Amino acid sequence: SVPASIASALSSGARKGLLMKGGAVIEAAAHVSRIAFDKTGTLTHGKPRVTDVVTAPDVAESDLLAVAAGVETGSSHPLALAILKRAEAAGVEALPARDARAMVGKGVEALVGGAKAWVSSPRHASEVRGLAGEHIRRATELESEGKTVVAVFREGQPLGLIAMRDEPRTDAADAMRQLKAMGISPVILTGDNPRTAEAIADQLGMDFRAEMMPEDKLTVIREMVAQGGVMMIGDGINDAPALKQAGVGVAMGSGTDVALETADAAILRDRVVDVPALIRLARATMGNIR
Ligand code: ADP
Ligand code: MG
Repeated sequence: SVPASIASALSSGARKGLLMKGGAVIEAAAHVSRIAFDKTGTLTHGKPRVTDVVTAPDVAESDLLAVAAGVETGSSHPLALAILKRAEAAGVEALPARDARAMVGKGVEALVGGAKAWVSSPRHASEVRGLAGEHIRRATELESEGKTVVAVFREGQPLGLIAMRDEPRTDAADAMRQLKAMGISPVILTGDNPRTAEAIADQLGMDFRAEMMPEDKLTVIREMVAQGGVMMIGDGINDAPALKQAGVGVAMGSGTDVALETADAAILRDRVVDVPALIRLARATMGNIR
């Protein structure tokens, strides 16, 4: 019977770490034709590592790292953690900072040793802060290698650039191949810049939308939802509004038990291939009912 197939799908999903909030979610998941993926922490490990430090003329690398680490001290952003880790590995102590303020989707600013300092995307730095041509060129180059770059400033002076790489999860490319074979189009939505996004999208065989502020992600999801069949996958913490907006919002990874309050479904293991697995389960269940 219908309720029995739904109940057995829910429990066999749960045994594999695929949680769905009831029969309506199974039905919606069976009809998904497009999936929007958050990049950081969902398609990638969410643990970027510093790969390059580029200093401005007459600036010591230790000074650049001390300022950047000071600004990032209070931030829990993955990029902040990468910078703090690199400073520690280089034996550089973060300068004491106060009045730290996050510029959502752009960077962080703070007072470091009485001077205003900030760490931000090169785009924000060049629009608002006057990043030098040479640094813009170098940042563009690093981004085309799939790295995320931030610019570091103190008192309006550029101290240099820090590039970081966040590796895609090892099963992400396989998951995208499976989805496309199922007739589903995957797209990356990210706040990161278009060159980094494109490098990762190409590697995984996906479309991408870059430089998305949180409200842009919501707008895109709304537009996609208007055409139907949309699933959104995120790590559930900063993606909660977009997950709520999507036809089927799926939280992925550790810590998703909290996100289940807003999401329709959750994938408890950090496995991207569990996304096609969840949809196959939903399709098979609806097929049995029909
Ligand atoms: P994503 O969608 O990849 O999670 P975010 O919206 O979190 O991206 O951030 C977008 C961009 O804003 C980053 O790529 C970076 O350039 C800048 N940014 C955000 N937070 C920070 C931070 N704490 N330090 C430096 N740069 C940051
Ligand atoms: Mg984010």
